Amino acid sequence: MKAFHNVLIVGGGTAGWLTACYLARSLGAADSGAGGVSITLVESPEIGIIGVGEGTFPSIRSTLAAIGIDEARFVRECQATFKQGVRFNNWVRPAGAPGADHYFHPFSQPSQRQGGPELLPHWLQGTAGAGVPFAQAATMQKRVADAAHGPKRLLDADYTGPMNYAYHFDAGRFAALLAEHGRSLGVRHVQANVERVELDADGAIACVQTREHGALGADLFVDCTGFRAALIGEALGSPFRKMDDVLFVDRALAMQVPYPAPDTPIPSYTISTAHEAGWTWDIGLQQRRGIGYVYSSRHTSDERAEQVLRQYIGAAADGLTPRQLKLNIGYRDVQWVKNCVAVGLSGGFLEPLESSGIGLIETAAYLIGHLFPFNGDSAPVAAQYNRLMRERYERVVDFIKLHYCLSQRTDSAFWTDNTDPRSIPQSLRDKLAMWRCRAPHRLDFVADVEMYPTSSWQYVLYGMEFATSLHPSACHPARRQEAAAEFAMIAKLAGHALADLPPHRALVEHLCERR
Ligand code: FAD
Repeated sequence: MKAFHNVLIVGGGTAGWLTACYLARSLGAADSGAGGVSITLVESPEIGIIGVGEGTFPSIRSTLAAIGIDEARFVRECQATFKQGVRFNNWVRPAGAPGADHYFHPFSQPSQRQGGPELLPHWLQGTAGAGVPFAQAATMQKRVADAAHGPKRLLDADYTGPMNYAYHFDAGRFAALLAEHGRSLGVRHVQANVERVELDADGAIACVQTREHGALGADLFVDCTGFRAALIGEALGSPFRKMDDVLFVDRALAMQVPYPAPDTPIPSYTISTAHEAGWTWDIGLQQRRGIGYVYSSRHTSDERAEQVLRQYIGAAADGLTPRQLKLNIGYRDVQWVKNCVAVGLSGGFLEPLESSGIGLIETAAYLIGHLFPFNGDSAPVAAQYNRLMRERYERVVDFIKLHYCLSQRTDSAFWTDNTDPRSIPQSLRDKLAMWRCRAPHRLDFVADVEMYPTSSWQYVLYGMEFATSLHPSACHPARRQEAAAEFAMIAKLAGHALADLPPHRALVEHLCERR
């Protein structure tokens, strides 16, 4: 069996360059003089990257650390801001209906003192007080984010405090930063159009034929060609499992909207607002907002979608033209075929809610780096990779559908179709049935294939007003007082945090000034 020495990554978007950087760091790019595996990235100078994908999950912080990009450089060069969670407007009920009009999904875990009680069952029994949302009772992050404060102090360079966070960033600048960094790690960069993929007698990829540089060969090919999936789909025919019977949105309209003034406060969370046939994302970067409407073409027209987007943005959208994108919702069950592995949109896409796109790229790069078949025997690695990725996609589908299927909205077919049990995967229905009489617990999840922690499920579930009716003995009365004291402590600490933490924009500007 021939040892694996050369990796060719085809595509230079977030997927291509993030994978290149990760592999260069973990496998040692041969050109850097460290020995190891040689990594080449080829990208078309003509086909642009998708250029959206501005929200992330906190896993991005360890990924950036693993590839060697520090926070201040990242924030400065990518116009980045902090993301402490997602605020969901009008997901439970339409605007104007009586009841709560939003909920928050914070990235911080519920507080738990060593040996202290788990707070969720006590919250369910009303110990935190009537009407206090779980996300507010269990962590101070909601109040900090509501007040437009950043998640840490100006001096916290290597922050390890309790407030977890991710980032928002400009996708084009991120790809450029990763490209520059990847080259400095020894990744060879080739600008060329792949015109044909040639297979060998075993059906593996022999080489890709480029217009400018002829044939490029490798031991392992990584398909990062976006929705086109030139290698894994077009050449190798790995089937695409459509998920549009579960997740309905399949179009997006995106706009970049300037701030009215340079010192406009920046929210440190994504604002996701539900509408009649989908939802808008609203992301605050340093000098502009990225706003888009993701919608179902089976439930509305493109013209009506543009009206909804313009209504949401208001006068700031005048004179701006939205960019339309068609989304391929689903994934490939088999993402590693012979000597080719798909990463990014070529492997699958499950809509932008909860930033699974970049999160799944991070997982894929991590798995390839750790399972890399140095000895050339890629079949067992492929089997393991395919199982882990498939299970992860299945769980992401469940988590995203959770946001839709608990809605009480009946104001349009989009929402009633979303709560139709036939559109809800059995795996999710089983979870919901379990949680009708007990709170979700980490034991319900298999850590290695989950993208979202137990707390994310809890925040969304109870933000969507899911009803769990606990057995009266589920919380020991003796622990109720401890839980009540913990809830009071969190509220007090939130007050201190509000006094202590800087406005979000000030934190971002401070990082931009640091060299
Ligand atoms: P692309 O960016 O499309 O890159 C494809 C690359 O392949 C390009 O470099 C191109 O030149 C190259 N290429 C293609 N064909 C050839 C060829 N023949 N020869 C040579 N090169 C070729 N994810 C999140 O995590 N958070 C979000 O908030 C989020 N929002 C999104 C919103 C929308 C509307 C969409 C559509 C996606 C969103 N995503 C989000 C997903 C995210 O954008 C992608 O996962 C991410 O950008 C990775 O894209 P990619 O690198 O796979 O593909």
